[in-house]
Amino acid sequence: MSRKRSERQQAWDKFGLPKAGAEALTRYNQEVRPFRKLCGARTKSTEDHRPCQNLALAGHDRCRVHGGATPKGDQWNLTQWPNGKAPDAEAKLQAKLKRIERDRKAKAKRLAAMSPEERQRYDQRAKTHAPGPAAERARRRDDRKRAAEIRASLEKPDDKPASAELAELQRQAAALEEARDHYRRLAEQANQDQGVFG
Ligand SMILES: [Zn+2]
Repeated sequence: MSRKRSERQQAWDKFGLPKAGAEALTRYNQEVRPFRKLCGARTKSTEDHRPCQNLALAGHDRCRVHGGATPKGDQWNLTQWPNGKAPDAEAKLQAKLKRIERDRKAKAKRLAAMSPEERQRYDQRAKTHAPGPAAERARRRDDRKRAAEIRASLEKPDDKPASAELAELQRQAAALEEARDHYRRLAEQANQDQGVFG
């Protein structure tokens, strides 16, 4: 037995969406959307990898699907937990945990399906793109750059530095590498601390 629709529902059936909805959508598409920034990330799903046409999220360069929801600055790539004071905090937390678990499984599957070269690329990026504060990441980047410069200058055959200078450079390179390994271990530890959420 079908329930009789209320007067208000009937009015909505008759005029609601065609009138109010469609007009608002048209107005939005003509007057607002053209002035908003597009995401522009190259899509993987199409053969020509055309730019993504979604709107970029406010304050970001990308849409939600292409990393726009990833926080910037100190929270970069760290899990964002719901506000504990929100009335629906518990439901949000459960949804978040569920999503994290789903993402973790999907990631494990993706990693398992990778070719050795892909896996190497992935590991390399995971090393250079560890989550955390911006200053920390900038410092690690700087360390890597300086270590690379020193290594390059050591490998250059002509203009070999004097032996004292060479020793000093080698000492610096070793110290930088040690620092890098230290932060790598810290990052790995942090990942492990996240446990099932990592
Ligand atoms: Zn996008």
